[in-house]
Amino acid sequence: MKEKVYQLLPDFLQNFMVYIYNRQAYKRRYGGEYKNFRKEKKENRTLSLEELKEYQKNRYSEFIKFVIQNSEYYKNSIGNIEHVESIDNISSLPIVNKEVLRNNIGSITVKTSEQLEKSKTGGTTGKSLEVKFFFRDSQERFAFLDDFRSRFGYELGKKTAWFSGKNLLTFRDVNKNVFWKTDFVHHVRYYSTFHIKDDYLKYYVEDLIRFAPEYLVGFPSTILEIAKYGIANGYDFPENKVKAVFPTAETITDETRYYIEKFFKTKLYNQYASSEGAPFIIECEKGNLHLELQTGVFEVLDENNQPAQSGRLVVTSFNTAATPLVRYDIGDSITLEDADKKCTCGNNNPLVKEILGRIDDFIYSVENGKINLGNVSNTLKDTKGIIRFQAVQNKLDELELYVVVDQEIYSKQIEKVFLSNWRDRVGDVMKIQINYVNEIPVEGSGKFRIVKNNIKDLL
Ligand SMILES: [Zn+2]
Repeated sequence: MKEKVYQLLPDFLQNFMVYIYNRQAYKRRYGGEYKNFRKEKKENRTLSLEELKEYQKNRYSEFIKFVIQNSEYYKNSIGNIEHVESIDNISSLPIVNKEVLRNNIGSITVKTSEQLEKSKTGGTTGKSLEVKFFFRDSQERFAFLDDFRSRFGYELGKKTAWFSGKNLLTFRDVNKNVFWKTDFVHHVRYYSTFHIKDDYLKYYVEDLIRFAPEYLVGFPSTILEIAKYGIANGYDFPENKVKAVFPTAETITDETRYYIEKFFKTKLYNQYASSEGAPFIIECEKGNLHLELQTGVFEVLDENNQPAQSGRLVVTSFNTAATPLVRYDIGDSITLEDADKKCTCGNNNPLVKEILGRIDDFIYSVENGKINLGNVSNTLKDTKGIIRFQAVQNKLDELELYVVVDQEIYSKQIEKVFLSNWRDRVGDVMKIQINYVNEIPVEGSGKFRIVKNNIKDLL
């Protein structure tokens, strides 16, 4: 959408282009088997745990057979394992990490004459990776996602504010303080995630109040900034407007949830997946996270690759037949809930206690080891006036904090609290350098990162 022609069009034609683009995408997404998948997903909501495991076992077996027949890489690496298609033997298959996937992407991706959909996934290292999907797999994924969102009333066509990594704005828009484009036919307004700074946030908040979306979807870091700005500046978001917020792509911290729910006067329902096509983890109306066994196999492993309650998430995803994810170490870690704990929502899938997020989203202290994203974001405890911050680690013994503050509220005393919260986590030895700045830029993907660890390769 960043083509030269698009840039030159007047605003209403750019909006029209967004609609045309969507119409084409939706045609593929909602075509083929989509309707049947939707029906199946709805029926599967109430399966018993036994039935879910049986379904998972069958899908696993089908998936592995297909993979061995069609992927050169897997034919060679797992084709000779006895009873390889049985889920009980999953631990005899090798674990594939992102590097292995990247280096072997050509032989992992299946050979087919069918047209495939491409999905680029950004890496924290900046090197992107292109995985492919059969259209039917995408359709099943969207059917699942739509089934999840429909539990909170969402359907395509409902008024939605979308916050994604697409940069649709031109200089003219920014000069006019317009930070969005609208698909008027599908009632979706796309807000830029690249212009999140105090000078602009006013226009976001005021437009969201005017637009009055029923749903907010997208990067929670952006929605959080808007919510915090709205609260800090006394905006009163109308009640009973937003039915739900569906975050994508980033880890949800307690802080994120608190401010978003408070400002928009609604509930946030988390969902975990990935652009590589990981199986889904979804939050239910009771606020619990469920591992959706019908979408894949989830293994939580410790450093010795043994099953653990808390550890690295290794996934096998049934909707990834084109670039198969088989025991894929996705780079996130999670903690499972005790097996005997049940949810009363009617979904019988196992529960997750916490999604800890990217394994490489951490600050490393020689004294205390890894401080994960949740703990980093909790350094805001008992502080006021910190609008946002970013923790950057370029050296083993030094931490740099970039902090945007509200001068009217922030004080030396609060700085002391903030630093002491950091000390509790990193210990006494590490140098902490605070830099007060006016803004902190987002990444090329449009996401905001609280933690940037540039020494993780040394650890
Ligand atoms: Zn539940």
